[in-house]
Parts: sequence; structure tokens; C-alpha cells
Amino acid sequence: MSTPGGETTSVVIVGAGPAGLTLANLLQSEGVGCVLLEAESREFIEALPRAGFLEEWAVRALERRGLAGPGLLGAEAQGDCEFRLDGTRHVFRYGALSGQRHIVYPQQFLVTDLVRAFADEAGGDVRFGARDVAVHGIRTSRPSVSYTDPETGQQRTVSCDFVAGCDGARGSSRTAIPDGGIEVFRHNLGVGWLALLAEAPPSAERVVFGLHPQGFAAHMARGPQVTRYYLECPPGDSPDNWPHERVWSELRTRLGARDAEPLNEGDVIERRVLDMHNYVVEPMTYGRLHLAGDAAHLVAPVAAKGMNLALNDALLLADAFRAYYREGDESGLEGYSDACLRRVWQYQDFNRWVSEIVHGPSSGDPFRAGVAAARLRRMTRSEKAGRAVAGLYIGSDADH
Ligand SMILES: Cc1cc2nc3c(=O)[nH]c(=O)nc-3n(C[C@H](O)[C@H](O)[C@H](O)COP(=O)(O)OP(=O)(O)OC[C@H]3O[C@@H](n4cnc5c(N)ncnc54)[C@H](O)[C@@H]3O)c2cc1C
Repeated sequence: MSTPGGETTSVVIVGAGPAGLTLANLLQSEGVGCVLLEAESREFIEALPRAGFLEEWAVRALERRGLAGPGLLGAEAQGDCEFRLDGTRHVFRYGALSGQRHIVYPQQFLVTDLVRAFADEAGGDVRFGARDVAVHGIRTSRPSVSYTDPETGQQRTVSCDFVAGCDGARGSSRTAIPDGGIEVFRHNLGVGWLALLAEAPPSAERVVFGLHPQGFAAHMARGPQVTRYYLECPPGDSPDNWPHERVWSELRTRLGARDAEPLNEGDVIERRVLDMHNYVVEPMTYGRLHLAGDAAHLVAPVAAKGMNLALNDALLLADAFRAYYREGDESGLEGYSDACLRRVWQYQDFNRWVSEIVHGPSSGDPFRAGVAAARLRRMTRSEKAGRAVAGLYIGSDADH
């Protein structure tokens, strides 16, 4: 709809990642008007490899809402992971212990499915390549979002009832909140991870965590021909310090164990250094701006939590908007932040607990290495402890 001052809709969603796209699809199916603004092109977001492990409850939640396509529903499920320490293999069967598994589905596949569902099948309004996105008037009853149209170079403004800030860790929507409006609680793990994607079949049928004095390493399937690997490195390290030979030599050393299959090596097609840190924004709502996903909380990818949290926020926010637009019930929107933060802090806590296991042996501190080994022994040898850890690793509908 056009007005002299621009356009108007019910909700402007900033950012077409898992959070923004899930929310957009759910609002569209409810008949709630929304405009989705994305800074990048469709091709770019559909090819960006990041996460790959979805918790089973999240997949079932998408399925119940008609948002799980055949690719996701047919994807491989995994319920075991393996820790290697001092040449010994410790398998953790969290699927059997919890009754829930991870679904291995690369994030870019989920994003592709959700873009298709929203833009091509439901006729949703998504605007790619939106530049200079800025959120205004979030303390008023009529906020707006301005952006520069990539084709005409003209500034456009969409006014709305609410803004959903789903623009990730480096987005702009959070900057609309004045100083003192929110608090950001940060925790730095003090390490870097070199994130690698290799054009090579997985070398094990499960996730493998290598705990090694030279640094942590991990192996995770991303599909039959692509595998993600991580190597702990100094924070701020340059990917240029990690040529092909060094990468594979370190992976062989850190993931090595008695009777382990040799690694399937291949070309490294992505190499980037992540500074491993976490943050939580409180509250996740300011005025008419609701934050969701990485815009509101970052969880370093130690325990594969970030995308799952982004989906949880989007589901809760969609429910809250539905209640508001159908029944005028504002309680969901008022309680949105608290409802999300309960799972966010659970996941941050678990992530930190696992982080000590994977980084303790390389910390140079024998005390931390001892704690890591004790945690590993407890979770793999005590069924009771294993069940508790399994439940936290895989999450559940009840994590509120
Ligand atoms: C290497 C790596 C591995 C990971 N592995 C896992 C895993 O196994 N499991 C897991 O659960 N999580 C994992 N994560 C975390 C997961 O990828 C994120 O938590 C998830 O992408 C968050 O989704 P989101 O929708 O909140 O944000 P994003 O996916 O970051 O999406 C935000 C979108 O907003 C757009 N945007 C940014 N700024 C603007 C702007 N100003 N205007 C308009 N649009 C904007 C961006 O282009 C992007 O498309 C991993 C992350 C990384 C980096």
C-alpha cells in the first residue's frame, strides 16, 4: 500500500536469515502484512555456508507449521558424537540417551527453502540488496524503516506497527536503540577457531571433537561430499597462516586416535577465522522493535546452538504477532523477551560447559585440562550424567 510518505505494512522484518525468513513465512501464512528487507542478494544468502545441525524439536516445530520441505524431512539424523583425547575414542550416544537427534541440514539449504516458500510460493514481499537500512521511531506507535533501493538509488521508507530486527550479529536494527535502552552481556572465550569447509566426504559417521594440547579440532558432516572442520587458533589469526598442508597436518594430529579411520582429504573451499565470543542482549524488545536470532544473542558454534535459538525466537515472535493481530492480545509481545531468554541462557550455559571440555586440554593449564577430562569421563561413563548432558545438547520443546 502506498501513502504520500511512503509505504505501510504491519511488520517490517530486517534480515533474511533463518530467523527473519521463518518469521516472514509465518506472518504471511497468517495474513499479517510484512515486508522483508535483506542487505545481500538472493544468490548470496542461498550460498552462504554456516550452521548445519538442527535440533529435532526445531525441525518438528517447522514441520507442524508447514515449513519443513522434503529436503529437511529427508535429511540424515545423527545421535552420536565422539571425543578423542590422548589417542582414545569416547563415543557419546546422546540420541539414545535423550530420544532426540540432530538433523544434518546445511543452513543455506534451509534458507533456500524458506526464501522459495515466502517469495515464490506465498508471494511474499522480500527486497534483496537493500542498502543503508535504518530503523526509526521505535518508541512511537508508528515506527518506520528506511533503505536505499539498489536499482534506483532512491531512499524508500516503509512505516509499520512493529519492526523485527533479525539482521544478525552485525546488523543495524539494534543501533536504533538509544544508550541505556538495553544491556549487552558479553563473554569472550579467548580463542579463535579456523572454520573450514572441505570438498571431501565425511571421515566418520558422527561429529568428532579432537581434544589436543596443540588445540581443539572438530569434524562435522555437511553432506555426502562436503565436511566442515574446525581448528582452534589464536584469536584474530589470519586464514593465510593456514595453507592446505598445514590444515591437513594439524587435523590429522588433533583428530588422531587409535583405530580411527584416516581423514578423507580434499580441497578447502572456505577458510575463515571466528573469534569465539558470546553475548546476550537484555531485553530483546525495545519499544516497537523486537530482536530475534543473532541480533539478540550470539553463541559461539561450540555446541551448534545459534540457528536453533534463532528459530525458537522466530516461532515465539510469530505466535505473539498472531495473538496480537487476531485477538488484540498483547501479552505474547510483552512476554516475548522473557520467553526467549529462558532458552537463550540455558543454551549459553551449556555452550560454556562444553567449551571448557574442548578448550581445557589446549589451555596450557593442567587444572583446566583435568576438569575437561573429568567432565568427559562423567558424561560418557555415568548413564545418569550422560542423560542430563544429552538433554542439554539436543534441547527440547520444554527448554523454556
Ligand atoms: C561457521 C559457523 C558455523 C555455525 N554452526 C552452527 C551449527 O552447527 N548449528 C547452529 O545452530 N548454529 C550454528 N552457527 C550459528 C548460526 O549460523 C547463526 O546463529 C544463525 O545464522 C543465526 O540466524 P539469524 O537469522 O539470527 O542471523 P543471520 O543468519 O546472520 O541472518 C541475518 C541476515 O540479515 C542480513 N543483514 C545484516 N545486516 C543487515 C542490514 N543492515 N539490513 C538488512 N539485512 C541485513 C544478513 O545479510 C543476513 O542475511 C554457526 C555459525 C557460523 C559462523
